[in-house]
Amino acid sequence: MDTFDCVIVGGGSAGCVLAARLTQDPAVSVCLLEAGGEGRGALVRVPLGIVVTVPTQLINWGFRSVPQPGLDGRRCYQPRGRALGGSSAINAMIYTRGHAADYDAWAAAGNPGWSYAEVLPYFRRAENNARLHDEYHGADGPLPVSDSRTGNPMQQVFLAASRQAGFRLTEDFNGVDQEGVGVYQVTQQQGERWSAARAYLHPHLFRPNLRVLTGARTRRILFTGKRATGVEYSRSGRVETVTARTEVILSAGTFQSPQLLMLSGIGDADELRRHGISVVQHLAGVGQNLQDHLDYTLIHRAKSLDLLGASPRGLLRFVREFGRYRRQRNGMLTSNVAEAGGFLKTDPGLSVPDVQLHFCVAVVHNHGRTLQHLWHGYSLHVCALRPGSRGQVSLASARPEAAPRIDPAYLSDTHDIEVMVRGFRLARRILEAPAFAPYHTRELFSAGVESDQQIRALIRARAETIYHPVGTCRMGSDDGAVVDAALRVRGVEGLRVVDASVMPTLIGGNTHAPTIMIAEKAADLIHRQPSAG
Ligand SMILES: Cc1cc2nc3c(=O)[nH]c(=O)nc-3n(C[C@H](O)[C@H](O)[C@H](O)COP(=O)(O)OP(=O)(O)OC[C@H]3O[C@@H](n4cnc5c(N)ncnc54)[C@H](O)[C@@H]3O)c2cc1C
Repeated sequence: MDTFDCVIVGGGSAGCVLAARLTQDPAVSVCLLEAGGEGRGALVRVPLGIVVTVPTQLINWGFRSVPQPGLDGRRCYQPRGRALGGSSAINAMIYTRGHAADYDAWAAAGNPGWSYAEVLPYFRRAENNARLHDEYHGADGPLPVSDSRTGNPMQQVFLAASRQAGFRLTEDFNGVDQEGVGVYQVTQQQGERWSAARAYLHPHLFRPNLRVLTGARTRRILFTGKRATGVEYSRSGRVETVTARTEVILSAGTFQSPQLLMLSGIGDADELRRHGISVVQHLAGVGQNLQDHLDYTLIHRAKSLDLLGASPRGLLRFVREFGRYRRQRNGMLTSNVAEAGGFLKTDPGLSVPDVQLHFCVAVVHNHGRTLQHLWHGYSLHVCALRPGSRGQVSLASARPEAAPRIDPAYLSDTHDIEVMVRGFRLARRILEAPAFAPYHTRELFSAGVESDQQIRALIRARAETIYHPVGTCRMGSDDGAVVDAALRVRGVEGLRVVDASVMPTLIGGNTHAPTIMIAEKAADLIHRQPSAG
């Protein structure tokens, strides 16, 4: 059988949710196509596996941006998961949603149904929170959310330092007030990563109305006139097609959903013709509006063996921790590295926090791709939450196998670097608080850097993504929008985009839970408002 009601492209955070929710109805048949594998290996299940999966291309597309003028011409690494679970198979598992005001801004920008009050039920429907049970949290959804099980005393050192630096603590970043510093909750259960695949898809692979094809890379969407009728994909060296009776849903993520639209003839008409692609629908917004959280990491070398590192004693400790993990499913191997953090205002006059911190129990430099990674130390990331910079994803080539051309245009809005400079000072205030004094040995990269000018130069030399690209298939009602508020691609029939790319603006937090929410809501929209009659 190669005809289904819905064909979903991409089994990542969004695609897994959709496939599971749509096939709850036995009358709806779904085919899910994922370019990567099953996403079940030990490097996915054991949380600390990220120290291997993020820097390498084992289950990671490992894209690179074009040279960034705002970052001294550097090409920036852009990891993305390549397996069932997508980026949730390699992410840091932090569960945050952003600020209520972010969603209210989506609704106010012409997207009815997307205010925080309207999306909160979908966050709750998804969530199975082990500790928090109130009007903000769900207790019986498919996605486990739990407290850190590392027991790492450095978490408390960070919290004490934050308090000494004048910041308040919080035990819930997703409740009534986002502001504060605390230990992150993670999408884990019993000390194992629970990717979107494990939470939503793996339990339902037996359903007769669900077909999941791994190793199946979609090449383009097929159209009859303006109606999407299926997709062409390659698998094991062969090119095949699958037909969609009702609709095709793109969930290939912020970089590849717009790429697939363009490869299929939807995008800026002049640009498509330049690549020799026949135009199905001129839609100039495809690939535009790329937004990401640019991040600077302050790093200190330190003495404690509670900090990850490859010294002889550190390795011995690690061997012991391995045994502990096998017996108790807690300790260092459950670490998501970025164990604590916070949402803070760099100016008390602001209505919402404008920077996020991630406190890592390791030296995290250049995504863990250098030898410094082996030293013991701690790192404090700071990112600007609502950048003004807007980049784009475009075609590097009309070949479906080619990587997309990614240009985040970091710091092209000069306001962004000023937020980063204030954030840098705020993060340093925490690292200089007395609680860290017994541990600190040496500040790396930023020792002696004091003036705004020096800080700006350092940010341009060292800032990197903290992995939250969104916005390239923007939802909206204006001419530049790619999808409408029901996530239907404008100007054609039978085609939706459901993933992080539809966010009109980047939310002030990590993007996995918001993407899950988008897909939960999309499943309802698809039931109620089929994309093609
Ligand atoms: C290293 C890293 C750390 C992160 N840490 C966190 C965190 O701690 N907390 C958090 O909330 N967020 C985090 N994020 C971000 C979050 O994981 C993503 O925003 C979210 O997973 C995006 O979901 P998505 O469905 O849009 O795309 P993805 O989950 O990336 O899914 C896209 C899927 O489509 C597949 N695909 C692409 N092209 C094709 C094709 N042509 N044919 C078939 N399949 C295709 C891909 O292989 C992939 O499986 C992190 C991301 C990364 C990369």
